[in-house]
Amino acid sequence: MIERLRIKVTGVVQGVGFRPFVYDLAAKNHLTGYVLNDSQGVEIEIEGGKASIDSFVQTLQSSPPTLSRIKKIEFIPVEPEGTQSFDILQSQKQDTQSVLISPDYATCPDCVNELFDPANRRYRFPFINCTNCGPRYTIIYDLPYDRSRTTMNKFEMCPKCRAEYEDPLNRRFHAEPTCCHRCGPSIWLADENGQKVETDDPIQSCLNYLKDGKIIAIKGLGGFHLACDATSNDAVRELRKQKMREEKPFAVMVQNMEAAKELATVTTQDEATLDSPQKPIVLLPKKNKSIISTLVAPKSRNLGIMLPYTPLHHLLMQGSNKALIMTSANLTDEPIAYQNDDALKRLHTIADYFLFHDRDIFIRTDDSVTHKSAGEYRFLRRSRGYAPFPMELPAFSDKYNILAVGPELKNTICLTQGKNAFVSHYIGDLRNAHAYQAFLQAIGHLENVLEITPDIIACDTHPDYLSTRYAKEQDLPIIAVQHHHAHITSVLAEKGRTDKVIGVSFDGLGWGEQDEIWGGEFLTCDLSGFERAGHLELEPQPGGDAAAKSPPRMAYVYLKRAFGDRAEKLTQELFPDMEDEFRIVSQMIEKRINCPLTSSAGRLFDAVSAILQVCRKNTYEGQAPMELEGGAAEAEDDNTSYPVELIDNTNGAFTIRTSKIIHGLVEDFLGSSPREVCAQRFHNSIAQLILESCQWIRRYNSLSTVVLSGGVFANALLTEKTKTLLESEGFEVLLNSIVPAGDGGVSLGQAVVAAWKLSHKNIE
Ligand code: ZN
Ligand code: ZN
Ligand code: FE
Repeated sequence: MIERLRIKVTGVVQGVGFRPFVYDLAAKNHLTGYVLNDSQGVEIEIEGGKASIDSFVQTLQSSPPTLSRIKKIEFIPVEPEGTQSFDILQSQKQDTQSVLISPDYATCPDCVNELFDPANRRYRFPFINCTNCGPRYTIIYDLPYDRSRTTMNKFEMCPKCRAEYEDPLNRRFHAEPTCCHRCGPSIWLADENGQKVETDDPIQSCLNYLKDGKIIAIKGLGGFHLACDATSNDAVRELRKQKMREEKPFAVMVQNMEAAKELATVTTQDEATLDSPQKPIVLLPKKNKSIISTLVAPKSRNLGIMLPYTPLHHLLMQGSNKALIMTSANLTDEPIAYQNDDALKRLHTIADYFLFHDRDIFIRTDDSVTHKSAGEYRFLRRSRGYAPFPMELPAFSDKYNILAVGPELKNTICLTQGKNAFVSHYIGDLRNAHAYQAFLQAIGHLENVLEITPDIIACDTHPDYLSTRYAKEQDLPIIAVQHHHAHITSVLAEKGRTDKVIGVSFDGLGWGEQDEIWGGEFLTCDLSGFERAGHLELEPQPGGDAAAKSPPRMAYVYLKRAFGDRAEKLTQELFPDMEDEFRIVSQMIEKRINCPLTSSAGRLFDAVSAILQVCRKNTYEGQAPMELEGGAAEAEDDNTSYPVELIDNTNGAFTIRTSKIIHGLVEDFLGSSPREVCAQRFHNSIAQLILESCQWIRRYNSLSTVVLSGGVFANALLTEKTKTLLESEGFEVLLNSIVPAGDGGVSLGQAVVAAWKLSHKNIE
């Protein structure tokens, strides 16, 4: 008996080779019918015998195309129509859009093979791609996803490309950006004035310049990179100088896995991540002796490594280059440059040459950065290859769409529609005017391509964050979410949890109450709200932001607290050259001039890093804690920790005094324990401090799930120690794995709190 089945598939199912896959599968099972893309996803109708239909459905569910992500499949039996063939029908645009845009993917192995096959017509073509790879998110400006709504619309396909594009059995069937030497974009080399450099082979010329130690701005997938020879001290030194980037590590691109292994220790798990279709930057323990310049990642234990992810990268890395620095092309704090004219304007003082192409990037995305922490890869930056893939919220309202505008630093935004939360690419520090423009652009772009019009805005409670100000300027109801509550709920959102937990937010800063800076917080919370159960004792932060840049200032504060009158002598001993500055700092504290109070765990790590003489200047955010972690990781762990002190504030709330930790640390250090050992013991102490605080809370309200989030948990050593310790005492521990623990995850946390409120109708 002949049957007919309508199948509706939603998820990331467009632009990932879904229709040719369905066509092929229908042919194999001798089924007739059709497949088409609509605004919901993919619609299929198949007609044939029951056994054939069952077999089709089984394969569709068990092994869909590699890059697709099926969220839902619906089956609706319909009347057989007696169709004779299986057809791929035109895309349909409908009113309600809920199709998911695919992120950009690295060049697939099939395309790499063709790229280096002299017999292939796309031999050495820098824009080769297919339905399994290539640009998506960065070139789309509207839906449904087809070529006319991408930046490839200005290139008309040649007959050969069109034939492939229209052949359902070809790998390039409806590969929207497909093209070739004849019909596609091209590359050219230009000097710092934008003058085209005459050469038959721009790639070879580019390689020659790199060999000569030149800095080249290379247009990639989501923006420009600044590239230079990572093995040359002179080239790297020049790049640091030009980019005004003192010590922050650079990422390098290497040709292949073997080359990666020469620079860093790479496990099998690392290999899978490095070589995944997303090709993120992976932080790996760097080898002591390698060919790369020590200036690439000075003072850092890790090296950020990535593999080539565009055809142009593959061509560039084919040469004699062992390792190229490939860093986001910008000045410090600015967003990555992505348009040819803008790149030339902003980068001509840094780059000697530009490798341009004329496939426009519609929306910029930086490289994603990930590292292994507590057994899993966790993001430090989630962007290219991952954004804007959505996640499902544990609480949502079908009635209201939400725009969560994120915090001010490391900004991302998040849009929700029903269950889906779309976290944007990385935007950056909004205090930079270019980044603020990028923020506005990202909101507009995502609202457009996702066709989501927000009804409600969620923002930080900090009144002066530029994102908060933006929120207030919109004519929409606002839900303000406390920064640390958002950090904790970002984990709850990821894990689909709505229960009450102990939230540990250890962070740089977040707006508290009465002008306090919070960042060492123990909350009891769920999606509905939070209570502050405990926190690190408040300390003055002399000079506000200035103290965040100068770790010795916080060292002074903590030494003073721990040692009282003895502190003068100690500070002289540890910081003999800072007498003058400390005199001013001391007056600032005494007279309470520009001395906000802070409970920031980030500042505590700064202080300890300075006391142990590991790092005395944060030339980039998080430097002192990162170098402290690096030092600690070098020492053998003896499980020793310095004493922790909790002070009862009545009603079950407590304050954590760190004086005994500082005391123990200083005596240990001056008593001639190596600084690495002291750093390791300090990490043990913080893990112990978190454990004792959580035990305190558990005694009062029997919560036994702990969420760890906030920027301090970018520290893998601390995260691992804390998780192990908590679990050994019977706690369940939840950590971020989809969004960063740092401020890049805050927009998701804001969104889920707002979604919970709306679903519980606290706001009408
Ligand atoms: Zn491909
Ligand atoms: Zn062509
Ligand atoms: Fe934060």
